[in-house]
Amino acid sequence: MEILKNYIDGVWTPSASQETIDVVNPATQEVLAKVPTGRDSGKDVEMAVSAASIAYKEWRKVPVIRRTQALYRLKTLMEENTDALAEIITNECGKTYGESVGEIQRAIENIEVACGTPMLMAGDVIEDITTGVDEMMIRQPLGVAACITPFNFPSMIVFWFLPYAIATGNAFIVKPSEKVPLSMMKIFELIDQLDIPKGLVSLVHGGKETVDAILEHPDIKAVSFVGSTPVAKYIYSKGTANGKRVQAQGGAKNPVVILPDADIEMSSKIIADSVYGCAGQRCLAASTIIVVDDQKRQIKEAIYETVKSRSTGYGMDKDVNMGPVITPESKKRVVSLIQKGIDEGAKILLDGRNTSISGYEKGNFLTPTILENVALDKEIIRTEIFGPVMSLVSMKNIDEALKFVNSGNYGNMACLFTGSGSNARKFRNEADAGNIGINIGVAAPMAQFPFSGWKDSFFGDLHGQGKHAIEFFTQTKVVIERWPNIWSRKF
Ligand code: NAD
Repeated sequence: MEILKNYIDGVWTPSASQETIDVVNPATQEVLAKVPTGRDSGKDVEMAVSAASIAYKEWRKVPVIRRTQALYRLKTLMEENTDALAEIITNECGKTYGESVGEIQRAIENIEVACGTPMLMAGDVIEDITTGVDEMMIRQPLGVAACITPFNFPSMIVFWFLPYAIATGNAFIVKPSEKVPLSMMKIFELIDQLDIPKGLVSLVHGGKETVDAILEHPDIKAVSFVGSTPVAKYIYSKGTANGKRVQAQGGAKNPVVILPDADIEMSSKIIADSVYGCAGQRCLAASTIIVVDDQKRQIKEAIYETVKSRSTGYGMDKDVNMGPVITPESKKRVVSLIQKGIDEGAKILLDGRNTSISGYEKGNFLTPTILENVALDKEIIRTEIFGPVMSLVSMKNIDEALKFVNSGNYGNMACLFTGSGSNARKFRNEADAGNIGINIGVAAPMAQFPFSGWKDSFFGDLHGQGKHAIEFFTQTKVVIERWPNIWSRKF
């Protein structure tokens, strides 16, 4: 069985770590590869950082318009390899082929936006800030930066950071989730074809030990993290304590409110896609659906009909709408949370726990579950489930719904379905979440916009994507200039 190599200094390099774990297809339990755990006292990270530090010195002097040429090439290579990449993602992560293609498309969009870096990283100048004195602000790269990413978007999330980091002149190290390292291997085969200094972009596999080596290395100046909230808090506190710039995106629990004037049929379809897409393993998956006022029965029926017709199975099979969850442990956790919800008084409208998919009996499959009348203070309403489970609750009016929306610990996304502009405006203005959807079920910001997130869904100041990423990967320098000839004339 293949043991995955790191990509360091432009060379595929075996890890110093002898220990490996299996990379497993969640639909079949087939072992696809073995990935090093990174228990090597930080040797892999040390090698990657020293190569990156050398490459950085050369790269930061390359004009930005030439640096972005590498991104144009990468965009083309990613487009040419979308099918192959999507198949790898489906096999390592479980999502459907269509969802995997969508993931690669969003990665490519980020490359396209980062191609605008020659404009985006421009500074400011004021001539004659005082007579004969000019002042300018320029943006300079930080040095070596790194990202640590989760299992649910094995490729896309790296691109919230990587294209911006290198376009602005930094070197970059990627530490993918050890559960899904394979599509990143393919992407590094493409990166290997770019005309960039060796060592500029590295891939280092591993788990917690590799992360700690990144957080402790003095020459890594910035860390971008996406994953669960407890780990995000850890990364933020340890990284900043070690003097690094850190952006850490955490977990989520996303409420969706349906007002009586919403289009019931369309809303139900969109909401079902949001809850059950990627088997509920999206940080922007809707989870608690709040039905306002008197339409509960119609909405419940419409949602039930839409959800019942979804098909679950192996993501490469045609007509499959939903794949498995990532691991057997993950499936067990979702099943036990559903049971806890029932024990705490919820009614189960649709039970997706005892699922067996013909031909894929070993897969980690769950079909959609709908719970109703869940008490608002219970775990199923407060905890991120990260599985295909919808909780339906009802409330009297938009004010009550907003109060509930704002009572959660997370603030990744909140959505409203309505036909009323003034209610939409009120919700947009008052909801405590960083990404808002109005008649949208997955309010995922396009690459031009920051992937916002508030409260326990984000630790830091600047988010991934767009202008925030350009700011994150650059430091401002202010220069004040006075020249002797002006000087002598003046005085
Ligand atoms: P995770 O936190 O378990 O792992 C994320 C990364 O952290 C991995 O690379 C892993 O190797 C590393 N890691 C895990 N445990 C660690 C520890 N104790 N110390 C140091 N590093 C550690 O997350 P996951 O299960 O891979 O991903 C799912 C989570 O990610 C969900 O909570 C989801 O909401 C969140 N997520 C958030 C966003 C967002 O934009 N806010 C996007 C995608 C996923």
